Amino acid sequence: MPPETGLRIPQDNRFVLSNARVPTELVADPPPGATRDAEGALLLDLLVQNGRIAALFPAGMAPETACRVDLEGRHLWPAFIDMHTHLDCGHAIPRVRPDGTIHGGFSLTAEDWPRWTDEDLDLRMEFGIRCAHAHGVSALRSHVDSETLAYSQRHWRALDRLRAKWAGKVDLQGVTICAMEAWIGPEARALADLAADMGGILGGVTDTLDRGENGTYDALGQALDRLFALAGERELDVDLHVDQTEDLSAFTIPEIAKARLRSGFKGRVVLGHCVNLSLMPPEVIDRTLALAREADLAFVSMPTPMMYLMDRKPGRTPRWRGVTTANEIRAAGLPLAIGGDNCRDAWFAYGDHDMLDTLKQAIRVFQADEPLTGSLAMASRVPADLIGRPDLGRIGADLPANLVIFQARSLNVILARDQADRIVLKNGRQVTDPLPQHHELEAALGLLDTAS
Ligand SMILES: [Zn+2]
Repeated sequence: MPPETGLRIPQDNRFVLSNARVPTELVADPPPGATRDAEGALLLDLLVQNGRIAALFPAGMAPETACRVDLEGRHLWPAFIDMHTHLDCGHAIPRVRPDGTIHGGFSLTAEDWPRWTDEDLDLRMEFGIRCAHAHGVSALRSHVDSETLAYSQRHWRALDRLRAKWAGKVDLQGVTICAMEAWIGPEARALADLAADMGGILGGVTDTLDRGENGTYDALGQALDRLFALAGERELDVDLHVDQTEDLSAFTIPEIAKARLRSGFKGRVVLGHCVNLSLMPPEVIDRTLALAREADLAFVSMPTPMMYLMDRKPGRTPRWRGVTTANEIRAAGLPLAIGGDNCRDAWFAYGDHDMLDTLKQAIRVFQADEPLTGSLAMASRVPADLIGRPDLGRIGADLPANLVIFQARSLNVILARDQADRIVLKNGRQVTDPLPQHHELEAALGLLDTAS
């Protein structure tokens, strides 16, 4: 059942949403003359036609139509983008019981791989997509476990099935996740071809590669060169897991930047996590971000699972927030998106694929408010650009009418309350699918135990 909001969204092909309040940074092409409120949101009318936003007008200026819904100043945002997830690992609790460490996550996931049948993958991955859909996410990028070619074919096929099924509602994009050794191994070319065939891109984990005798990252350099070459040949972007550790000796951003510069690679390069950057001396941070800018790198941070994983020691309260230098990255003019990351799996016990929740966590953990300017785009406009979907993550003429309408009339209230009664539209139609229930998934997978 749709939430009780006092609003009725028409089923017509043409209607007006009037008196909407849209943060300026989420509007692609603001109409001249629109009033701006004290928090920087524009008061607008939207003409929705055939599933798209046909035009924007200053509030009260849309042409007369038979169907008009007065939003009375409620906030209206573009649907969210979650550009960093792990759908194939997700929703395995209670079969998998995380111990709160990165290494525990790796070994528990490897133990779980033999249970990842087609049916198991379809059920768990689709559960995650259904959560995202109901919460108002219109595109997901998922890292696909590609540690060995034999396993990864099954994982990629599952993503491909769901990609076809959910296209237009939650657009899916896959990216390989594997140790960087894979890119200098015998299966590298086949793995790159597999990702390309499935509409995906290339990635890997950069900080786990063994260093050489002199402590340098020679092997990582070789692996990155090969990765950029394989991605370049296939015109695929690159999205890496980088420095997800408090170990300061595992610091690979400079190696990635240098490899990208010497490669001549033309695609987008996104670096996920980069958490130990925030433990570095200020001059190292400045130097690293200058190099990142020269190499045209972008960043994505996953604050919620990092708060769970980083600086965890038994019997001791964490002293470090475990996130990257978000504000310095943005101040350097580099793109920074946020992502949901792991969800009810071996690395993170919780989560619901709700990007509004992720955005609230990010704003609080980064202290990315006062001013809030630019922070809202981390969950929509910035990741849409980074996944190559400039038609998503913003409000503008001739873009899909993928929208989230809140009861809140101010940004403060959006950030203060959970907004569980938000209304989601995809292609101009209200999403009425409820959130899926965990016990149904667990019953289907035989995961119900006495504790659940
Ligand atoms: Zn990840």
